[in-house]
Amino acid sequence: MNNEWLRVSRYNPCRICHKPDWCGYSETAACCMRVKSDSPARNGGWIHRLSDPIPDYHRPPPRDDVLRPCFYTLWRVWRDKTDPGLLDEYAKALVVSEQVLNDLGAAWAPEHGAWAFPMRDSAGKIDGIRLRADSGRKWAVTGSHQGVFMSLTWPSATDIALICEGPTDTAAAMSIGFMAIGRPSCLGCERHISDIIKLVAVRRVVIVADNDGPGLAGANKLAGQLKVPWKIIVPPTKDLRAWVRMGATKALVECVINQMLWRNI
Ligand SMILES: [Zn+2]
Repeated sequence: MNNEWLRVSRYNPCRICHKPDWCGYSETAACCMRVKSDSPARNGGWIHRLSDPIPDYHRPPPRDDVLRPCFYTLWRVWRDKTDPGLLDEYAKALVVSEQVLNDLGAAWAPEHGAWAFPMRDSAGKIDGIRLRADSGRKWAVTGSHQGVFMSLTWPSATDIALICEGPTDTAAAMSIGFMAIGRPSCLGCERHISDIIKLVAVRRVVIVADNDGPGLAGANKLAGQLKVPWKIIVPPTKDLRAWVRMGATKALVECVINQMLWRNI
């Protein structure tokens, strides 16, 4: 019997409260965060055996939805006001292509004094905004959901996409000519990535893991949930952007990729 707990999603909503987030499920039980049962779980939710009748759930008024800003509108305003000269300077400072920053939707957010990167949900819609100050400080606009960093322009069939950590590593990968998808940290968004890969018809993925314990653990966790062939590579530097800054080209990165075998074929 498979006792692994999985997260609910839009495609696989909670069997108890019918919502697409927050709750979990295994093969035999649901762990609902909204509907009580007589077995409280350690994470603050409640265990429901799926063989039991499903209890009634009366949805509370959507207070959370009202308080969450429309991230698309917020981003659009910043984006329209972003000075192209400033974006160009930012690209030079990061040693990435300005076109790529543009494709990823980078926008200056004056009220935060930071660069804003849209985070997209499984369908590619903006569902949160990551902020990044020039000091390197990273945070998100209040109410943001975690999502992926990606360009909306994909070739009709993409053989290989790199999966990177953070918007600037994603920009570095794209700057040397790869298609790339970024996640906010080395862990999480596994379902988003799987969905996006299907959405943009990527055939194979190369996960770029930072050269540390959490980086490799996060890469393996993502790999375990992928339905397409994958490889994990570890840059010889702190991260991919540092490697690109030192002169790594697409050919060099491909050389490293070619030294590994495809898994999950
Ligand atoms: Zn639930």
